[in-house]
Amino acid sequence: MTPSSPSEPVTTPASPPRPPIPAPQGSGVVQHTAWLERRFPEIEDLGGGTFSIPVPFPDNPLRYTLSYLLTGDGAAVVVDPGWDSDEGADALFAGLAECGVDPAAVTGILVSHVHPDHHGLSGRLAAASGAWIGMHADDAALLAAAGDRAARGSADVPWLTRNGVPKSEIAGLTYAGNTDDVFSTMARPTRAPADGELIDLPGRRVRVVWTPGHTPGHLCFHDEDADRLLTGDHLLPRISPNIGTHPGDDDPPLARYLGSLRRLRDYDSAEALPAHEWRFEGIAARAEQLLAHHQERCDEVLRVLTDAPKSAWGTATELTWSRGWSGIHGLMRRSALAETISHLVYLVGTGALVEVPADTDGVVRYAVSA
Ligand SMILES: [Zn+2]
Repeated sequence: MTPSSPSEPVTTPASPPRPPIPAPQGSGVVQHTAWLERRFPEIEDLGGGTFSIPVPFPDNPLRYTLSYLLTGDGAAVVVDPGWDSDEGADALFAGLAECGVDPAAVTGILVSHVHPDHHGLSGRLAAASGAWIGMHADDAALLAAAGDRAARGSADVPWLTRNGVPKSEIAGLTYAGNTDDVFSTMARPTRAPADGELIDLPGRRVRVVWTPGHTPGHLCFHDEDADRLLTGDHLLPRISPNIGTHPGDDDPPLARYLGSLRRLRDYDSAEALPAHEWRFEGIAARAEQLLAHHQERCDEVLRVLTDAPKSAWGTATELTWSRGWSGIHGLMRRSALAETISHLVYLVGTGALVEVPADTDGVVRYAVSA
């Protein structure tokens, strides 16, 4: 977990009960078995110039990021280099060499999104190779803004207050004192791949698919020849990515995320190559599970608000959480609050809820539409 992240990298214990797990098929069985046995998966040559290289994600239950090496004619691109640590750099660089690519010969780095378990090692790999770094412009903007700690810190307390967080809880939910500033040290991208473009990899046809939600600039990459979709954190086989919000975000991303899930129905024939856990098939079915999961969550939010208008905090404390609300502490509570706000604002957008303007206490509440 990265305390300084504007939205948490992925959902962990604060998430609501999880959608069912699809049965792995094909090549993903090897990775799934490694996951179940809590082993580190092996480096794999998936054929067609695509390799899977696990990179350690220390002190996190996800344990590793699956980086992908894509080789072309005189070029090599690494997608999601992983979390920045010496152990991770060793695993990535040795993995590239094992796949027959000198790390110094890498020509490009692409990240599915800005979170440090994906983009963290981009700087070290670019320093070793001179490779370009590609990130969607919306995530590049997030990276630039997140580096301004002072602005972020001053926006925290009014945002928490407005969302109904009790005074006694506020100090534990701000990033002040929790920040390790990982965002301000990550490499700045040098290219901004956009939806529909082919990536710069001669001899291969890999197209950019913009899937905003988990972050505003989240990208998937479709290998058109092999029919594989690199899904980043947008679509994972077991967990649901955090769809949160943060101070200054006027348009929480749940509606965009649901749209990005529907978009994946067009890629159902592809094998999914996610950035965590294991490879799988059945992209459309997995996307439907996640759509149903958020629909259930929206229904639960409406039930909680049936009796009386409530703030985002008041709503969050009454929702179902896998650890129970009392089992969620510190920044995980902030993450849970942010997810709740995303659902509330989404339901205002659909017309199911209305926002009740703040009165003298400065707290915004939500009510079921008449
Ligand atoms: Zn991740």
